[in-house]
Amino acid sequence: MTLVTRLRSALSDANDDRFSECRDCGTTIDPLDEACPVCESTEIARYELE
Ligand SMILES: [Zn+2]
Repeated sequence: MTLVTRLRSALSDANDDRFSECRDCGTTIDPLDEACPVCESTEIARYELE
């Protein structure tokens, strides 16, 4: 297994093809977080990547 393949595998495991972003400040946050750690907004945009 190449390094690149391992990195891709680790990344897809980590984010499960999903990510979340704060609608107020644009920070990318953990999809499991209920609020933005930067500005504490609960306006979270959630995306799922195909
Ligand atoms: Zn924020």
